[in-house]
Amino acid sequence: MREERLVIIGTGPAGYTAAIYAARAELNPLVIEGPQVGGQLTQTTEVENWPGYPKGMMGPEMMMLFREQAERFGTRFQTGNVTDLKQKADKKLSVFLGEEEIVADAVIVATGASARWLGIEGENEYKGRGVSACATCDGFFFKEKKVFVVGGGDSAMEEANFLTKFAKEVVVLVRRDALKASKIMQERTLKNPKITIIWNSEAAQILGNETKMTGLKLKDTQTGEITEHVGDGLFIAIGHEPNTAPFKDLLEVDKGNYLVIKPGSSKTSVDGVFAAGDVADHVYRQAITAAGTGCMAALDAERYLAAFE
Ligand code: NDP
Repeated sequence: MREERLVIIGTGPAGYTAAIYAARAELNPLVIEGPQVGGQLTQTTEVENWPGYPKGMMGPEMMMLFREQAERFGTRFQTGNVTDLKQKADKKLSVFLGEEEIVADAVIVATGASARWLGIEGENEYKGRGVSACATCDGFFFKEKKVFVVGGGDSAMEEANFLTKFAKEVVVLVRRDALKASKIMQERTLKNPKITIIWNSEAAQILGNETKMTGLKLKDTQTGEITEHVGDGLFIAIGHEPNTAPFKDLLEVDKGNYLVIKPGSSKTSVDGVFAAGDVADHVYRQAITAAGTGCMAALDAERYLAAFE
């Protein structure tokens, strides 16, 4: 068992920003790096909306620079998968990485969110070979091809419109007879001549020739009828799942499993545990807002630790 002052779990813009602030405040933070170091931005290509970089920057490079900056001020890193978080009688916190226990005075949870998948036949088999959850990462590979997008929310509309830069045809599969997306995104999508929508439809199976996806089976959600369609790609945009599984026993979560924080702060339901980034935000989900809340969490932790001693 090891003792730490501040443990930060997660390495997206939220975790790294929290680490930069905490290290500069001489809190000697330890960052736990999970399975996807750098978080969701390492799955994107160019980030064009990070202020101060008018020419844009590649997502993976940006996260490397965040990490470097955190390290410069003395942040330490440990690779591992956090499996549980508990509070002890003396208010200290136990972070478990399997059998290993790290005891911390304060913890910042910045574990982000992961894309949801459909769980249908062929999905795993053709991931990276036609099936994707990130148009920004993979859209480029579908020049002059026909692709499908699943979902009726803002993400699906954004992905569909983005994909028309490359694909010759984009078909959006919506499981109801209406879109959930905001009016402006709906209008943009409905006006785009390259996009068609198949209402009341659900991807039921992905078809392929073992090398790559070649089409899919669609189910009509009202009649149950199954039809086969030819196509080269399937982009799944049905929302995200916050990475809160190890924390749900200790911390309050909302009905979407996002961590609940006290308004205007980064404080979770447990003293000494702070949250930053997408793990507690299903609305904004931007690199800049994640970084902002990472800064808030470090400042909140700093104040908490000053009173803790
Ligand atoms: P949402 O939860 O808003 O939408 C998910 C969509 O996927 C819904 O239409 C839902 O259908 C559909 N869906 C869910 N599960 C399935 C399934 N198994 N099969 C088929 N369809 C399914 O998620 P988003 O990622 O779109 O957006 C999340 C948040 O981020 C929202 O608040 C959104 O406004 C915001 N956002 C804003 C953007 C912008 O403003 N530019 C861009 C992207 C996101 P149903 O409608 O039937 O529930």
